[in-house]
Amino acid sequence: MELENPAVPVNHEAMLAVIRRRRWYLWGLILLYLPVTMTILRLTESVKVTGAFFGIWVVLLCVAMALYACCKCPGCGKTFHMKNSTLSFSRKCRHCGLDISGGGDGRG
Ligand SMILES: [Zn+2]
Repeated sequence: MELENPAVPVNHEAMLAVIRRRRWYLWGLILLYLPVTMTILRLTESVKVTGAFFGIWVVLLCVAMALYACCKCPGCGKTFHMKNSTLSFSRKCRHCGLDISGGGDGRG
């Protein structure tokens, strides 16, 4: 089974894979927050332990968000998700329109 898109250069594909992986880390952290918090609270019945988890989660979220924001686009070399000071969750580069799957217009 071919996993790589043959239309995308190999070095671009590797950089896009990093961007996709960082998106998964960020969304995973966001989506797991509530169920994990509720489970910890139910199991420990301790606000302190749950608060400690929240603190760890916030630190991990800041790291994941910083890594997400700093992703460089393989098409244009600029930040993939950031333009000026705004952050986007779009699947396309904010500067050149390169799609995260490797397609898109790719205008540099
Ligand atoms: Zn770009």
